[in-house]
Amino acid sequence: MNVAYEAVIGLEVHAQLRTQAKMFCACGTTFGLSANTQTCPICLGMPGILPVINRQAVEMAIRTGLALSCTIRSQNRFARKNYFYPDLPKGYQISQYEAPICEHGWVETYVNRVPKRIQIRRAHLEEDAGKNIHVSGSSHSRVDLNRAGIPLLEIVTEPDMRSADEVVAYLKSLRDILMYLEVCDGNMEEGSLRCEPNLSLRPVGQQGLGTKVELKNINSFKFVREALEYEIKRQTKVLDEGRSVQQETRLWDAEKGVTVTMRSKEDAHDYRYFPDPDLVPLHIAQDWVEELRKTMPELPSARQKRFVTEHGLPDYDAGVLTSSKPLADYFEHCVKLFGQPKTVSNWVMGELLRELKNTGTSAANSPVSPERLVSLLRLVEDRTVSLKVAREIFPELYASGKAPEHIVKEGGLTQVSDEASLEKMIDDVLAKNPAQLAQYRGGKEEVLGFFVGQVMKASGGKANPGKVNELLKKKLAG
Ligand code: ADP
Ligand code: MG
Ligand code: ZN
Repeated sequence: MNVAYEAVIGLEVHAQLRTQAKMFCACGTTFGLSANTQTCPICLGMPGILPVINRQAVEMAIRTGLALSCTIRSQNRFARKNYFYPDLPKGYQISQYEAPICEHGWVETYVNRVPKRIQIRRAHLEEDAGKNIHVSGSSHSRVDLNRAGIPLLEIVTEPDMRSADEVVAYLKSLRDILMYLEVCDGNMEEGSLRCEPNLSLRPVGQQGLGTKVELKNINSFKFVREALEYEIKRQTKVLDEGRSVQQETRLWDAEKGVTVTMRSKEDAHDYRYFPDPDLVPLHIAQDWVEELRKTMPELPSARQKRFVTEHGLPDYDAGVLTSSKPLADYFEHCVKLFGQPKTVSNWVMGELLRELKNTGTSAANSPVSPERLVSLLRLVEDRTVSLKVAREIFPELYASGKAPEHIVKEGGLTQVSDEASLEKMIDDVLAKNPAQLAQYRGGKEEVLGFFVGQVMKASGGKANPGKVNELLKKKLAG
């Protein structure tokens, strides 16, 4: 009989910090410029000019550390991590080794609505490498060093996750935090947020860890899940066949949907870390940390809790709405104008979020402003239009940018509440359905619903259903 295994996963995430300048020089950090236009002697690895630590990057690292409940180290040193690769002009990467700037924190996330805490082992500052560009059919590769020297925060968890679901939940929560802090734009496709999961299996019940495999080349949430699920199956098969998992780094091949060996333990690097003699030790005063603590925004988990207590929303709504800062801001803007948080939440999570997703738009750039959405809600509230019609015109509102009052007027969509018109429709319906009328008179009261439906139909959905009900009852009693 096969043994049941448990997956054990720890994550290394590289977040590109949204600083103006690079980590150790004044070059810019804009994505997508012409190759090698954002470079200088320092990030090109020329001798003779010394690097200088970017204060803004350190601040972003401290603020992230605080958001992750980490301890902020006061005495920091940068180290050289030595290896040879064409995208690394100096032959070493400046990183932190024994003394990371942030340690011992955690992230609280929800996995299928159950809370789960993931421990953060460390987060350290380092610089990014350049990019090798392989032009197919060409005999050589090119190197773009625009990215070389952009600040990275590497955030490493304890091996606390047990499934792909947990990894995706953690990664989403971490990304939300980084984006709320505005320290990283969180774009996995463009590589500003990169994730390397480490995965091992062990028999259920065993305490010790199995041999791990590190996965690279994963650039979307979808691939995180697919790569982990594939790798769990692969390792299970290896173990079931009585073999053992090799410690190695494997690359995710998104096209084939498999992981393949990149390098095994034997050719693992010996990085020969040593303190970088070009950089002074970095002392972080407690006062500075306390100053930065005052600049911390309300973070997603706190905001989620507040949405439940202050706005009386279900946990689920609060989680969806606070997953992005612009969306949460949008929601609160509407509530400020209109009140009725649950009604607003239904519209924002339903109609609005659907259109935003379809068009790949952030709530910050929604073509329907909070003011416009609230105008529509007011039209429903004062019964100018039915809820059904309001829902139906929302896509047009979104696509055209017109005011809801305008669309309602143009389309003749105003709800019919005036008694004379409704009574006329009711009389028609009753005249056309003598059999049902007889049933009703004979005591079958459910038939009322049938009449309401017929009147609604006759009005093209525009009759005010409450009013129809009331008038019908009066008429049938008389
Ligand atoms: P390495 O030195 O190979 O980078 P680390 O000890 O630094 O390994 O850990 C890197 C990541 O791998 C961390 O997130 C850690 O939690 C995770 N990890 C370590 N050992 C295991 C294991 N046996 N199974 C799964 N994940 C692991
Ligand atoms: Mg490591
Ligand atoms: Zn530079």
